[in-house]
Amino acid sequence: MLSNEANRASTPAFDAVVPGLSVLRDVFANLYYAFPQDQPQGPWVLIDAGLPGSADKIKKHAEELFGANTPPAAIVLTHGHFDHVGALDGLLASWPDVPVYAHTLELPYLTGRSSFPPPDPTVGGGMMAYLSFAYPKHPYDFGTRVQALPADGSVPGLPGWRWVHTPGHTFGHVSFFREHDKVLVAGDAFTTVFAESGTATYTQKQEVHGPPAYFTPDWNAARASMELLARLEPEVAATGHGIPMHGTELRRQLAAFLPRFDELARPKVGRYAHQPATADADGVRSVPPPLVNHWVKGLAVAGLALTAVALAMAGNGKKDKRKGKKARSTSKGKADDSYRAWYRDSPAPQGASGPDWQSRRPGPFADQSPHGQDTATSQPSSGTSYAADLRYSDQRSRKIETQYP
Ligand SMILES: [Zn+2]
Ligand SMILES: [Zn+2]
Repeated sequence: MLSNEANRASTPAFDAVVPGLSVLRDVFANLYYAFPQDQPQGPWVLIDAGLPGSADKIKKHAEELFGANTPPAAIVLTHGHFDHVGALDGLLASWPDVPVYAHTLELPYLTGRSSFPPPDPTVGGGMMAYLSFAYPKHPYDFGTRVQALPADGSVPGLPGWRWVHTPGHTFGHVSFFREHDKVLVAGDAFTTVFAESGTATYTQKQEVHGPPAYFTPDWNAARASMELLARLEPEVAATGHGIPMHGTELRRQLAAFLPRFDELARPKVGRYAHQPATADADGVRSVPPPLVNHWVKGLAVAGLALTAVALAMAGNGKKDKRKGKKARSTSKGKADDSYRAWYRDSPAPQGASGPDWQSRRPGPFADQSPHGQDTATSQPSSGTSYAADLRYSDQRSRKIETQYP
């Protein structure tokens, strides 16, 4: 059941972690089915809600565990990133009476009031990080279906568990802890896989790591949260990414990792590496400016210079004008196609579920909103976009991810 030497090949996607907790690895993100240890038939609670398009898969495995037509007593969310709430819409449609709970500081991103801070592809580390520019960051709007977790630390539907605020990866990130046997569901507060790497994400090689760097906007808070969780001395760590780890080896790796957190987890270079985004109960208040790599800058300048030369030369031949225009338009089409092919064929999220992933991959192709037309009018003028007063909390439900560069 539990191993610290497991990998994707040796571990079924749907598996028991410990009595009262089962995991479903949804391509690269985990969600959990939690239930009383002495009542394997439920009642039960769903912890996180997977990637977009996986509602049927989540329900199918729920039926295997608890029988047909047995909705959970509640759905609780570690945080609101797309790989943890992607299937929530579909689940809520099937389970019209099931309440959803998240930390009060996560509610702006789940009730349409604020985008997450933009992901940071400049952190490096591998394909999962490089692709993060395309990960959805717009708010979901589950309206009154989602509410704040109880202030007393209890977890609705899960006696014996408590929630712990573990901000850093997101502002309202929480972890869940079963106290009597020290079972921890850590969300993305830390991971047991090198989540930035496409290869590691594919193999699922077990290893304690920090939160996924490309989506973490406050590294001091993230370090404090990981330290807090290590102090709980978990017997089992079931994380949002990676195969659950356990026992002495888990605690040894946590203890070895934390003193080197800034070296191992905090990006050397990155938009949030040394300056956090800030937020309050209404959502994001400020984000640091994006980093532009000097090489990218240099290449862009060189590209512009070459383009100018090419245009000047093309301008000399009037009769070639129409032909040139056609050629440019053709080459643009080819570039688009090759981009899509590269995206589709990128090795990271493949495996048994490869084709399934392709049909619901995140990014510009899946990230459509009926409110897209609002983005043009809600964009701030350039140069002022980092100011703390740029808030969109009054624009409920709007797709506002373009508010930050
Ligand atoms: Zn996350
Ligand atoms: Zn995640």
